[in-house]
Amino acid sequence: MEYDQNQLMLKYVNPMCTEKCWNNMIDGKLQCNCADGDIYSWKWEKHEDTCAILTKDNCEVIFHPVYSSGTAALRGTTSFTKNVHHFWEMKMLSNLYGTDVMVGVGTSKVVFSVWGNRFFSLLGCNKFSWGYSYNGEIHHDNVRTCYGSRFGLGSLIGVHLDMCKGTLEYYMNRRPLGIAFKGLKTHELYPMICSTAAQSAMKMTFAISVESSLQLMCLQLILKHPQLYNQFKNIPGLKRIYENNFFWLFPKEYEDSKRRVKNDGKSLKRRKMIKSKQNE
Ligand SMILES: [Zn+2]
Repeated sequence: MEYDQNQLMLKYVNPMCTEKCWNNMIDGKLQCNCADGDIYSWKWEKHEDTCAILTKDNCEVIFHPVYSSGTAALRGTTSFTKNVHHFWEMKMLSNLYGTDVMVGVGTSKVVFSVWGNRFFSLLGCNKFSWGYSYNGEIHHDNVRTCYGSRFGLGSLIGVHLDMCKGTLEYYMNRRPLGIAFKGLKTHELYPMICSTAAQSAMKMTFAISVESSLQLMCLQLILKHPQLYNQFKNIPGLKRIYENNFFWLFPKEYEDSKRRVKNDGKSLKRRKMIKSKQNE
């Protein structure tokens, strides 16, 4: 049973993290900077009604640092401007468990204080927010829909909010999961995250806003079709140019699938060791 659970966990892990990252975990929390893009057009904002600690220049969040008695949420410092593409990504630094851990967007009408003593899937509980849950579902206006993979320790959850079209698409470990929500163009939206899990931690790896361009549109189309992507990367020098400009769109596992299988084997052993140490 324990083996199956570990195998399941491995699916969530981003391909940039290696055995070294698992070796250097402190108190069940990843310390590495593997996926960091170091570009932040906004940060997380401290909120007096929220049980969370912000560190690393307000990019890293630890929800419920001691114990949890309900739902904590955070909003970004600025709302998303219209007619621009917004990309941002959260790396899950700890195990996720319990009622919910979510990544999404919401308007200024989302109230934080009400949920402090209730375990709740806050993002999407009404028409003012939209969220992707760690259990794989998306949630809006109190309706849950199956969407993508579960996510957990080591996952990179990317968000692409297209404020030209008003659509929101999630990425899991830099792979697109398909449009989750439409009709967002008329709303004034903020980035949001929430968690009910004690000592759950996550870190923003980048937050970028870019104008729409033919380059971006072509690249997104190419990355959704592995055959097209293979042709694209065989054109000398082209991939490097795009990787420099749009690094957050490139799924590293296309390149490293063989190495990943090897590393996964090692990581599994390592995780079992970490787990048994924790149980001691
Ligand atoms: Zn790492």
